[in-house]
Amino acid sequence: MSLANLTPFTPYPYVGRHIACPLCGGDRATVVATMDRRLKKLTSLCCDGCGLVRTDPMPDDAELDAYYSGEYRQDYQLAAALPSARHIGVSRREAGQRLALLAPHLKAGARVMDFGSGSGEFVKAAKDAGYDAVGVEPGTTFATFARAEYGVEIVSGRHEDIDFPAGSLDAITAHHVIEHLRDPVAALARFAGWLAEGGVAYIAVPDITRSGKPTFERFHFAHLYNFSPETLEMAAAKAGLEPDPRLVRDGTTVVFRKTARPRAWAVTPGVAERVKAALPDVSVAGHVLTGAWLRPMFKRAAKWRRQVKDAKA
Ligand SMILES: [Zn+2]
Repeated sequence: MSLANLTPFTPYPYVGRHIACPLCGGDRATVVATMDRRLKKLTSLCCDGCGLVRTDPMPDDAELDAYYSGEYRQDYQLAAALPSARHIGVSRREAGQRLALLAPHLKAGARVMDFGSGSGEFVKAAKDAGYDAVGVEPGTTFATFARAEYGVEIVSGRHEDIDFPAGSLDAITAHHVIEHLRDPVAALARFAGWLAEGGVAYIAVPDITRSGKPTFERFHFAHLYNFSPETLEMAAAKAGLEPDPRLVRDGTTVVFRKTARPRAWAVTPGVAERVKAALPDVSVAGHVLTGAWLRPMFKRAAKWRRQVKDAKA
């Protein structure tokens, strides 16, 4: 692992470029964080127009490739190249919950695509439930693992290069994936195009406004965008998706359907102010000195041990 991605109080090894907000197109923005959860330098902007939070400067494709090929699984998930028993246990439980949520709305043999399928537990669960399931995963190690371990179909490659026929999918799921993409709004629009009439898209992202953590602890280099429930819904609306009224939404975990009559998309007023108010400026030094980080650290360690134990059971 590269030392440059681990040394605190230094920037990540990338240049990137400044971009306008891909949601509303605005370029006025407020800095909401200059540090991330690894105490590395990382600037995050909240768009003054719509409230979408983005990394600035935005890394380019080559810089992201370098990060994901070398550092991602270690740096972000603290996992080795192959998925650990703990990772698989957590992923299997989440896959079961996601499938149980969608199953009442899927017909037998429905064509289901998991976008960012990781080690393949959701694709396996969907296949076992009788759906025609496929995964899309750019990480070759995890894609190879999923095929070998579960015998599931995984399409690997950059997500921009992957395409499905229009209207060919009954369900698309993306669990904590689109916040990693350089243009999540474009990805949602592609999802809308791939969905069949009556199809659903399950999208889950972290809610940057809900976490009780200090502001800088909510940011990570891998998350190029950070959503609130409102900005996720706006991004979906721009892409031609609306929350499916048959399913109860939970913050930034939402099941969308295609918007019946495409209508003009507009920014929801007041969201940018609400997002900024939810991201108070916290001094990193002050936070370290108060020891407030100790309790969550011990809680995380306890949770980790529990998950490892559950995975072994
Ligand atoms: Zn914006």
